[in-house]
Amino acid sequence: EDRTRFAEEKSRELSRTQVELENYASELKRSSQYKSEFLANMSHELRTPLNSMLILSQMLAENAHGTLLPEEQDYARVIHEAGGDLLLLINDILDLSKVEAGKLDIHIDEVDTTELPFVMEHHFRPLAEKKGLAFSVERDPAIPDIIYSDGLRVHQIIKNLLSNAIKFTEQGTVRLTLRPFDPVLDEAAARHVPGGAAIVVAVSDTGIGIPAPMHEAVFDPFRQADGTTNRKYGGTGLGLSISRELSKLLRGHITLDSVEGSGSTFTLFLPSLTEGAVGGAGMANVA
Ligand code: ADP
Repeated sequence: EDRTRFAEEKSRELSRTQVELENYASELKRSSQYKSEFLANMSHELRTPLNSMLILSQMLAENAHGTLLPEEQDYARVIHEAGGDLLLLINDILDLSKVEAGKLDIHIDEVDTTELPFVMEHHFRPLAEKKGLAFSVERDPAIPDIIYSDGLRVHQIIKNLLSNAIKFTEQGTVRLTLRPFDPVLDEAAARHVPGGAAIVVAVSDTGIGIPAPMHEAVFDPFRQADGTTNRKYGGTGLGLSISRELSKLLRGHITLDSVEGSGSTFTLFLPSLTEGAVGGAGMANVA
């Protein structure tokens, strides 16, 4: 009799705890949603005035009326550059909060994999060469010419990876490789991309590398391998978290291989999706 009463009481306690936990979880979810919505709105409100500042400081920097002293022109240039950095940061925060709020829409269309290497080469070779780095691009002809994905977002991810590769490399080579999925070589990534990837995009460098304990953390928002305040490389620590979130929206995955002091390889696995727009919270089907 006593034991039955004891059991009943415990079971009531348990269901009370369960209800409390569920309430707490939904409250957490709600406030995280509020945070993301707030950030998304804020970013939008910040961009409008910033754009006016950028346009007007640019005009001043060009000294169109010839009325400014050289140092005044320099001040205008500094304002313009600082404004440009701020705009990049705001765009990153906007992107990340949109993904987190499930509000970033994906537009599935044909992505031309023959054109992609040229676009990247055109954009990044000059930047690499300016730093004295070699830049190499390789496309295995075995990959499909066309895949279905969100071209804009695919480009955004690869550009993030390439600008990091150039930023964190002092000498050697930055390499972009497009190749087919290899079930053996890519075994570790396979469980994140259930249908297998249609293309594999690798960005490797001979740069400073990332210490092993940071290999997962660098994908967290605002996390940087060098956490000191007087760190050598600028940046916001948002690029990789945005890239990873975007790759998830595209039903793909990003992995990192790196040895501190000798270089890093970031690899993007992309499936081909079925045609038709896929909402942020919606499901994409693998073609
Ligand atoms: P950011 O580059 O703005 O700091 P990211 O999210 O793009 O932000 O990268 C986070 C961190 O990961 C960087 O601060 C750096 O410590 C490390 N990292 C990213 N890419 C590389 C790379 N190619 N080589 C070495 N470290 C890298």
